[in-house]
Amino acid sequence: MWKTVIGLEIHAQLLTSTKLFCSCPANYGDSPNSNVCPVCFGLPGALPVLNGEAVRQALRAALLLNCRINRTSSFDRKNYFYPDLSKGYQITQFFHPYAENGYMEIEVGGTRRIGITRIHIEEDAGKSFHDEERGETLVDFNRCGTPLIEIVSEPDLETPEEAAEYLRRLRELLVYAGVNDGNLEEGSLRCDANISLHREGEPLGTRVEIKNLNSYRFLQRALRYEQERQAELLERGEEVGRETRLFDVKSNRTMVMRTKEQLLDYRYFPEPDLGILRIEEEEIRLAGSTLPETPALKRERYVREYHLSADDAKILVSSPSQAAFYEETVKLGAPPVKAAHWLLTELLQHASGSDPFLTPPLTPKAFADLLVSLEKGRITAPMAKDILPEMIEKGLSATELIAKKGIALVDSPEAVKAMVKGVLEGLRPEVERYRAGETKLLGFLIGEVMKSCKGAAQPKTVNQTVREFLEGKEE
Ligand SMILES: [Zn+2]
Repeated sequence: MWKTVIGLEIHAQLLTSTKLFCSCPANYGDSPNSNVCPVCFGLPGALPVLNGEAVRQALRAALLLNCRINRTSSFDRKNYFYPDLSKGYQITQFFHPYAENGYMEIEVGGTRRIGITRIHIEEDAGKSFHDEERGETLVDFNRCGTPLIEIVSEPDLETPEEAAEYLRRLRELLVYAGVNDGNLEEGSLRCDANISLHREGEPLGTRVEIKNLNSYRFLQRALRYEQERQAELLERGEEVGRETRLFDVKSNRTMVMRTKEQLLDYRYFPEPDLGILRIEEEEIRLAGSTLPETPALKRERYVREYHLSADDAKILVSSPSQAAFYEETVKLGAPPVKAAHWLLTELLQHASGSDPFLTPPLTPKAFADLLVSLEKGRITAPMAKDILPEMIEKGLSATELIAKKGIALVDSPEAVKAMVKGVLEGLRPEVERYRAGETKLLGFLIGEVMKSCKGAAQPKTVNQTVREFLEGKEE
């Protein structure tokens, strides 16, 4: 049996308004090459000035990942030329990163602690667009100099599933910290994986790097493919080459991008234009005091305080805006379990957009009122489901809509009795058959009553009243 060793390197774009070393806006989606200056291009004489907000965000991420913060760190030049990096080098932290020795816990089967080797601050490069049809490549430098942190894990992950879970939890944590938007698809969060195989008790195998895995699914598929490919080579007594590979989504395989001979020598050296980065104790304390409740603690609290299932807690917590909406709804008096259930089924069904709870389909107040009315028996579940879409569309409260639509809850015992009687008298043959022993007709008869009142009576009361009628108590 082969043992798999996986480590992930994750690049996360920080959410600053300006770039890492100049005051150009960090809006990557703007018209191409509009947010650029001599610093972005590294023109002669241009000097970089470090963005304090980027450091503060990086600090939050490092604290949430339980890292040791290095009070002094420094920047280095990574030298290479690429069309989207016209200055010929990238400023990064190679020799002395600002954060080291952290960890994050993941749950796959049991709880596992995954080490974080280091986090460093660096700048992003621009972006090339290849136009196959016209046979040309265009470059947009807007992304040049956008602040990133690179989070390097220890090779502690043992399966593709664990790797995907680690990426999922890390993404969630960064979004909660307000330092990254979590957009894997658009590349504001990017994942590279290192993977090697070895036999238990033997030294680690040669690792292969897979670049640009921009979804949990592709990450898992690429790692699974590599597990098989490397195992086959090793079984045949062949060597695994030290390579950088790319995952091809269509063929579901990884392909060689660079071999060992083509590995670049980046000739790192300390960045002469920037001083030492000192992070004061006070800054660390301040950042620590404003950290959000972590998603892991939130999930635990939902299970403990609100008695939700672990699965529901996980889904609710997966987005900070959704969790905030849920908590507000509960704070306004909605029963927690019912609120979770209605949010995850009914409300999400009518919500749209990538983050519906940033501009929620309705206010937590309106949602809570609906659930309280439901809980107190002022309306029934079918009535609530019926008016929810309109509440969302028109921004009306449940009470207003019920009044406006003239829906009335049939709630007095007399009214229910009269209604049951009215419906069942129209179903004489079925009632007779029931009384003759065909008891399986009960469900049908109750259904007919519920249908006729359009769900406006409590199922429990209807159920009981129908039984009483059938037993002959009401004749
Ligand atoms: Zn600039």
